[in-house]
Amino acid sequence: MENILVQKYGGTSMGSIEKIRHIAEMIISFKKQNEHMVVVVSAMAGETDRLIALTKSITEMPALKEYDSIFATGEQVSAALLAMTLQSMRYNAESYLGFQVGIRTDAAHSKAKILSIDTQKIYTELDKGKIVIIGGCQGISPEGNITTLGRGGSDLTAVAVAAALGAKACEIYTDVSGIFTADPRICSDARKIEKISYEEMLEMASTGAKVLERRSVACAMNHSVRLYVRSSFEQGQGTLVCEEDPTMENILVSGITHDKKESRISVRGDLGVKGGVANLFSHIADKNIVVDMIVQNIPDEEAKSSISFTVPKEDRIQAVQIVKDLYKDAHVTWNDSISKISIIGAGMRTHAGVAATMFDILAKENIDIKMISTSEIKVSCVIEEKYTELAVRLLHEGFQLAKKKS
Ligand code: ADP
Ligand code: ASP
Ligand code: MG
Repeated sequence: MENILVQKYGGTSMGSIEKIRHIAEMIISFKKQNEHMVVVVSAMAGETDRLIALTKSITEMPALKEYDSIFATGEQVSAALLAMTLQSMRYNAESYLGFQVGIRTDAAHSKAKILSIDTQKIYTELDKGKIVIIGGCQGISPEGNITTLGRGGSDLTAVAVAAALGAKACEIYTDVSGIFTADPRICSDARKIEKISYEEMLEMASTGAKVLERRSVACAMNHSVRLYVRSSFEQGQGTLVCEEDPTMENILVSGITHDKKESRISVRGDLGVKGGVANLFSHIADKNIVVDMIVQNIPDEEAKSSISFTVPKEDRIQAVQIVKDLYKDAHVTWNDSISKISIIGAGMRTHAGVAATMFDILAKENIDIKMISTSEIKVSCVIEEKYTELAVRLLHEGFQLAKKKS
């Protein structure tokens, strides 16, 4: 089927009945130019937080199958409200939950992976002239249970649906007018980027730029989905995420990101014979906990091993428990008041000294670096959480991001 457009509207865009009406009007104007429209929606602003708080009021570690059943209701409500609004405007629209359009996932509740999408159902509904509205961030496990994809996962639903349907583009509508050189809520002089490579955007998303969920960018990159980020509230071209082109390589640093969502866990003691580290991280991986940074001190003969690593804050309790169960005599500490600051740019491949400049900018303000990690196009530093905003602004200014022309 040709000429399919997939759009996704985020929580703030769906925040009230008034806003849903505005979104419905936008969709109607797009429908006039596009034969087939598929719209993925998030829960209304604040709703997912409310639902998660409800589960946490019962237990810190809820049974994840029940957690997913509760989480998914946020998108169920917003999808149906949008469909009703379009119907009341005399448009042929219908809402569907993940399982109703065959979004099959694995059974990793609360962070499930999409395995396949049954496109036939969607094609059939589009063929009837319907605007297909899908509740984002959810699917169905092989056992037939409702699963969710993790926070921000509606972006992934939209991109995966666009890839599966062979859509001409996937447009993510949100509360900012595109992807900026830093979070515009922290850096008032952050600049909108016209075009960014999948690879740079993947690093930005992985290091905290929540404007796009990390796996949605990976999915777009793997399936060459033309991905736009635009505002629901003002007109504009937004930002295009696409293949790298030669002009992008000249940009040394494209963006600064920050992430306050990680905790650091440190373990000191006898981690056992060879393979101790592998053993530790395979137990953590078994619980689907994603470890980001790892720093190990290789001990001399007398000294004890020491290893520090970061995990998402919501997984810290479970990760600490795993470590304690494995190494009963080890000394385990953790710190939730850290943040990770990163600089990202394709130009780092060809320019030396970028990391040194970053360390220098932080050192001049006496901001201590607690951990460092790098990739070909990224440098990340863990610092004390209280310095996050200051560090972002200093780096944004230090790398002259506000002044550059696009
Ligand atoms: P939605 O509810 O539409 O999914 P999100 O809150 O998930 O929206 O993402 C949009 C937010 O991402 C913006 O309000 C902005 O504060 C934040 N953000 C962080 N980094 C960036 C960046 N580099 N560019 C644009 N927005 C960013
Ligand atoms: N509503 C979910 C969340 O707040 C999913 C999403 O918005 O993408 O994380
Ligand atoms: Mg989001």
